[in-house]
Amino acid sequence: MVLGNLTWREVRDADRELVCVIPTGSIEQHGPHLPLLTDTLLATKVCELAEERRQNSCLLYPGIWLGCSSHHMAMPGTCTASAGTYIAVLTEVIESSLSHGFRKFLVINGHGGNTEPNGIALRELKAAYNEGFFAHAGYFSLLGDVAAGVLRGPLKSIRHACEAEASMMLHLFPDLVRVGLLRDDGLESDPPAPAGLTVIHHFDEVTEEGSWGYATHADKETGRRLIEAAVAGVVGAIDYLGNGYVFRKS
Ligand SMILES: [Zn+2]
Repeated sequence: MVLGNLTWREVRDADRELVCVIPTGSIEQHGPHLPLLTDTLLATKVCELAEERRQNSCLLYPGIWLGCSSHHMAMPGTCTASAGTYIAVLTEVIESSLSHGFRKFLVINGHGGNTEPNGIALRELKAAYNEGFFAHAGYFSLLGDVAAGVLRGPLKSIRHACEAEASMMLHLFPDLVRVGLLRDDGLESDPPAPAGLTVIHHFDEVTEEGSWGYATHADKETGRRLIEAAVAGVVGAIDYLGNGYVFRKS
């Protein structure tokens, strides 16, 4: 079921065991070849395709398009929320639905900058609403081994406006890809960062034109296979939350 297409009476009468699926994305620079809304478009579309397969067990929310994108602000068009604002918005969307009796929430993310805020928001919600089920994942984390198997360039995972994102956009939204401008980008630090160290950097420091990866390898069929795997992953997450889980002694 798609929340935005329902009336309030239909929501009043809906099953409270439905898994509320909330896509989160961004509006931020994606290099010279992909549109600003890429992360929101991809996360939302993956969730829409999953909803088509699980219409009776999930309630799909509109994608939240404002993400934590301070690391992309050097390029015009990027809009960012502070982490606090972003967490407040996501929390209050979920609290609205908790107040109407829903209790199962699955946040499917399309933008790396939202990963930590999504986790913090859901941890705080769990502390406040212990009866709730809260889970989150990047759709790109649900691909399993598929990404490594289908990506043709040297980078075997999703990064930013990379082969993977450009391929998925070619599959789903070909008119939005500036094919003639696809480029490889991403600078390595010299000396290399010590293993295990997370350095906070902005994209104008680590790229030439804002993308990071090997987008010149992008291919429609690669995109189709990545999306198919992501949709299967989201369907699996819906089923897991929908069916309920218990903990047993191993
Ligand atoms: Zn992206």
